[in-house]
Amino acid sequence: MRCEVVAVGTELLLGEIVDTNSAWIGEQLALAGIDHTHGQVVGDNLERIVGALELALSRADAVIVCGGLGPTQDDITRDAIARVMGVPLEHDDEVADRILERFAARGRRMPANNMRQALVPRGATAIADPQPGTAPGLVCPVGDKVIYAVPGVPYEMRQIVREAVLPDLARRAGKGAVIRSRTLRTWGESESGLAERLADHMAELDDAGPDAPTLAFQASGIEGLKVRITVKADDEEAAERRLAAEEAVVRELLGDLVFGVDGETMEHAVASLLVARGLTLAVAESLTGGLVASRLVAVPGASDWFRGGVVSYAPEVKFDVLKVPEGPVVTSETAAAMATGVRDLLGADVGLGVTGVAGPDSLEGHPPGTVWLGAVVGDREPVTTLVRLPGDRDRVREFSCISLLDLLRRLLTGATATTFGSR
Ligand code: ATP
Repeated sequence: MRCEVVAVGTELLLGEIVDTNSAWIGEQLALAGIDHTHGQVVGDNLERIVGALELALSRADAVIVCGGLGPTQDDITRDAIARVMGVPLEHDDEVADRILERFAARGRRMPANNMRQALVPRGATAIADPQPGTAPGLVCPVGDKVIYAVPGVPYEMRQIVREAVLPDLARRAGKGAVIRSRTLRTWGESESGLAERLADHMAELDDAGPDAPTLAFQASGIEGLKVRITVKADDEEAAERRLAAEEAVVRELLGDLVFGVDGETMEHAVASLLVARGLTLAVAESLTGGLVASRLVAVPGASDWFRGGVVSYAPEVKFDVLKVPEGPVVTSETAAAMATGVRDLLGADVGLGVTGVAGPDSLEGHPPGTVWLGAVVGDREPVTTLVRLPGDRDRVREFSCISLLDLLRRLLTGATATTFGSR
């Protein structure tokens, strides 16, 4: 099943509004496993909308056209669709009643123009308004293909696409009517690195035909890189089985780069590891200034395992409060001593420390992005890592935060409270 999107509106071409509708629909189609190969933006001009729809229909099985369904003279999407279908527009009593009711409910007189919205191309069906006040959408069969017309107003469009268009597309797709996806969240590898690890497997999936699972990458900044698995199956149970099987293959190839599934963030992953091992955590932050602590307390139930944090920004605070040995502070020793110091100060089992250069200026001869991460678990030796992070001050601070949590995640994975000598 192949679907294209046509966004209608001269203001889109003039740059007065940004075409977020196409982006959102594109994402939904990808999630539903429907091929989305071309998109068009066209102004409020009958000939050109007709041309855009015909071009889209020549390549795809379905077209979603958004915008131009309103009551005014320049809302001509329904006229263009009627032209493409080769049928007249007809007055639809049901839609007319709904529009009249909508005005009556608000005690307002209906401008005559609004009856334009009750015009439906012969053979098309109006989609019932999901809520009053919404421009009605249309399902318009064209031979064995279909045009869906949806309103331009984003929240109206989303509701109609979610509730009417996507289910109809899935029905038309027939076999593989159940489409499910799952997202694996990764940290520690670039997009090209991930693609390389998965290249052979993705080639196998490509060769396996149109019903094979698909994999897609999505870069999500400090949330890491996501690998989305989409499967098609005849029923829910079969879809679940296929997802689980494909997830196992991808996890095998990506190993411990995977830290979470779907909505599970890095801090959730760290939280579950700590809870499972009965460990408590304290953090000492320099350049992140509390970001790490803030992310940790965003996890519900954090009081069970999070003791607290120290923002030891000035070197003297590191020395005086955390007992870091005096000297340069962008060092492995400082990161380790911060982790140990805060662990002891706050009586936790696990300590984390982060020190480095957020920029824009260098510090102690180190360029911005130079960051030392330290972690100490129980009575074990502290572990430190040097990372060189890209980007401006904000990004360096954000990336430091998730990198530090990832260091802890890796240390805790596979370990038990006993191996760390819980304190
Ligand atoms: P309505 O009858 O509810 O106005 P409509 O189908 O006539 O719906 P338009 O008049 O084309 O919709 O657009 C209404 C508003 O929706 C625009 O002014 C704009 O703010 C927003 N909009 C339209 N198209 C898009 C788009 N592609 N991306 C984002 N916003 C859009």
